[in-house]
Amino acid sequence: MNAPVDVSFFARAAKPITSYRKYWAHRFGTAPFLPMSRKEMDALGWDSCDIVLVTGDAYVDHPSFGMAVIGRVLEAQGFRVGIISQPDWQSAEPFKALGKPNLFWGVTAGNMDSMINRYTADRKLRSDDAYTPGDVGGKRPDRAAIVYSQRCREAFKDVPIVLGGIEGSLRRIAHYDYWSEKVRHSIALDAKCDLLLYGNAERAIVEIAHRLAAREPVEDITDVRGTAFVRRSTPEGWFEIDSTSVDTPGRVEDHVNPYMTIADQAKAQGATCAKEDQAAGESLPLPFAGEGRGEGAAQPLNFVPNPKVKLKPPPRDRTVIRLPSYEAIKADPVLYAHANRVLHLETNPGNARALVQAHGERDVWLNPPPIPLTTAEMDHVFGLPYARAPHPSYGDAKIPAWEMIRFSVNIMRGCFGGCTFCSITEHEGRIIQSRSEDSIIREVEEIRDKVKGFTGVVSDLGGPTANMYRLGCRTPEIEAACRKPSCVYPGICQNLKTDHGPLIKIYRRARELKGVKKVLIGSGLRYDLAVQSPEYVKELVQHHVGGYLKIAPEHTEAGPLSKMMKPGIGSYDRFKQMFDKFSAEAGKEQYLIPYFIAAHPGTSDEDMMNLALWLKRNGFRADQVQAFYPSPMATATAMYHTGKNTLRKVTRDSEGVDIVRGERRRRLHKAFLRYHDANNWPMLREALKAMGRADLIGNGKHHLVPTYQPVTDGSYASPRRKNSTGSQPVKGRVLTQHTGLPPRATGAKPVPPARKPR
Ligand code: SF4
Repeated sequence: MNAPVDVSFFARAAKPITSYRKYWAHRFGTAPFLPMSRKEMDALGWDSCDIVLVTGDAYVDHPSFGMAVIGRVLEAQGFRVGIISQPDWQSAEPFKALGKPNLFWGVTAGNMDSMINRYTADRKLRSDDAYTPGDVGGKRPDRAAIVYSQRCREAFKDVPIVLGGIEGSLRRIAHYDYWSEKVRHSIALDAKCDLLLYGNAERAIVEIAHRLAAREPVEDITDVRGTAFVRRSTPEGWFEIDSTSVDTPGRVEDHVNPYMTIADQAKAQGATCAKEDQAAGESLPLPFAGEGRGEGAAQPLNFVPNPKVKLKPPPRDRTVIRLPSYEAIKADPVLYAHANRVLHLETNPGNARALVQAHGERDVWLNPPPIPLTTAEMDHVFGLPYARAPHPSYGDAKIPAWEMIRFSVNIMRGCFGGCTFCSITEHEGRIIQSRSEDSIIREVEEIRDKVKGFTGVVSDLGGPTANMYRLGCRTPEIEAACRKPSCVYPGICQNLKTDHGPLIKIYRRARELKGVKKVLIGSGLRYDLAVQSPEYVKELVQHHVGGYLKIAPEHTEAGPLSKMMKPGIGSYDRFKQMFDKFSAEAGKEQYLIPYFIAAHPGTSDEDMMNLALWLKRNGFRADQVQAFYPSPMATATAMYHTGKNTLRKVTRDSEGVDIVRGERRRRLHKAFLRYHDANNWPMLREALKAMGRADLIGNGKHHLVPTYQPVTDGSYASPRRKNSTGSQPVKGRVLTQHTGLPPRATGAKPVPPARKPR
C-alpha cells in the first residue's frame, strides 16, 4: 500500500494554525453557538465581539458551512466571534446589531456565489434558496459580497473589512460575469475591502486576526498567501514578468549564468528588476502592459531572450506576473483568454507566483495560493466544537442544505480532476487535503450520538469527489513543480498514486460501528480513477450503493469531452461492467444514473444528437436537464466568453470553440437530452431535418423522435416501461453544472459547495 500523501513539503512552508498563542479573550470559553444577538453576547459575558462575520447564508453550526468553520477556527484562537446572518441590506442599521468589531469584519456572500444562488442557468429568478430557513429566495442581495461590504463600511467606517467565501474567491481578478454579460472588475476593487481571502481561508484568516490583534495596520498586511488587495504600484525589490512570457506550457526554467547581475538575469527572462530599472529609466511597455498603472511602478521589458544564454529566473518569492489590465481584457477576448490561462497555470501553491492586474490607476495584487492544510490541521478544523445544528433562532424551519448533509461527513478537500466547468479547483485547489481515519470515525460517532433524527444511515462519506481520499502525486517535490491542470486528463498521470486502500479501510470501519446500519456514498465518483482499484469498486458497489449510483460522464462525444477535460465514454463502459458484475455477485439490482451537461462550450448540435441516440440506446430518460452555467473564473467560462480554447496556448489564430449561445440553441441542446418528451418533438424534428438527419424521424426503435404528435399540454411525463436493453429506465436527472452549488431549480437536492456530485 502506498504511504499517505505527504503534505509536509508544503507544511514546512507554513506556520501550523494550531501553533499561535491564544488571544487573551479565550478565557470566555467556547460558545454553544456563535452569538447572533446582543442577548447571546451578554449570556456569554462579552461586552463586544473581536470579529463579526456577515454572511448571506443561514447560520448552521456545522463544518460544511463556511461561516461556521471560520467562526469556530477563530474562536479556537481565542477571539470572540459574532455572526450576522442574512441581514436586511437596505440600511446599515442591522449591521450594527452586535456593536463595533474590535478587530475586523469578515464578509461573505455565503456558500454560493449570490448570482448563481438567485438565478437559473437561463438567468431566470429562483424562488427558493437552500441555504435559507424555509427554502425561500430573496434573503440576500445580488452581488451580496459587495453590498454587505458597503453596509459594513457605513456601519463602522474605520473597521477593516476582510472579504472571503466563494463569491470573493471566484471573482478575485477581472472576470466575465454571465448575468450582466460583461467583464467586471476584481471584486476586491468593487467591494472596497481591505483584504480579499481566496480559497480555503483558515490559514490566512488566523494569521491576519493575530496580526490585527497585535495592532499591525491592515494596509501593511500584504504578504499573506491566499490574499488579494488593491495597491498603487509594484513595490521596490520585486521582479515583474509579463504574462505573455509565461504562457508556454512545458517551458523549463533555464540555469543561471553566474556572470550576470540580478538585473541582467531578470532582463534576459523578459522581466525587470524593478528598483534598478526604474532608476535607469529604460522601461519599454508591452502592448498591453503599463496601461493605467500608477507612476513609479515597475515596467516589464519587451525583451527577446537569447536562447543560447542559460539563465536562472529571478527568485520566485519576489516575482510577480503582470496580467493584461482590466481595460485590455475587457476590450480584447484573446487577452481575456490569455489572462485566464495564466491564472490557471499559477495555482499550484508549490510553484505559483504572485499576479498583478491593473484596473485604471490601481493594481489588484494576488499573492500565491494558500499552503494546503496538513492532516493534523484538517483534523483540528473538523474537530472543533460545532453544535451540528442550525442556530436555535430558526426554530423548526427547514434549511434544505442542512437537511442534505446532516448525516454526512466531509473526509477531504480539493480536486485534481480539473473539469473545466467546475469551480472547485479554483477555490480549493488541486492538492488533496485529507483528514485522518480516526477524525472521520469520530465524526460518524458524533452524528450517531448527537444529531436528532439519525436512523443509522450515514448519507455520505465524501467530499468534492468521492474517491480522491489520500490520493496525490508520487512525491511532494514533483507535485510542487507540476503545472498540469489535471492529474487524470487526458489519462491518469503516471505519477499519480491511485491506491484506494485507505478509503476502503474507512468505509469498513464506519459501517462496522455500533448503531450504524448503512453507509452510503453520495459524493460524485471519479470512475476512471475507481476502475484502477477493482477492490474499491467491489466494496463500493456491494456495501455503499442504495440502489442507484450517480455518476457524471457529462457527455458521450469527444468534442465536448475534450473541452470539459473529462474521460471518454469508454471509461464509463468499463466502470459499468464492473458495477454490473459486482452488483450481480451480491445479488443486488442496482442502477447507474449518468449525468450530462447540455450546451457546454465545444458542443455541436450533432454532438447532442449523438448523445440523445446513446441515451435512447441505453434506455435512459432524464427527468430534468441542466445546461452549462458559466460560473466566474472557470476555464469553460473563459471559452464561453472568448470563443477560444484556453486549454491550449492562446493566440489570435489559435483554436476556436463552438459556443452555444442564445435561447433557441440552448433549448435545442436541452431538448436532445429529453428526446422522449413529446413537447420537444416538433423542435427536434425541425432540427434533424436541418441537420440532414430526417432518417432519425420515424416510429421504429432506431428512430429518435416519432412522426406523430400527441396532444400535449406542456406537462408531458414520459411513460415508465422496460426498454429495449431490458434494463429499467431510471429516474435520470441530468446533473447540474458543477459550480459546486445546489441544483435546486431542477428539483434535485441541494449540495453545499464542498460536497458536489461529480
Ligand atoms: S506530476 Fe502528475 S500526479 Fe503529479 S501533480 Fe502533476 S499531474 Fe498530478
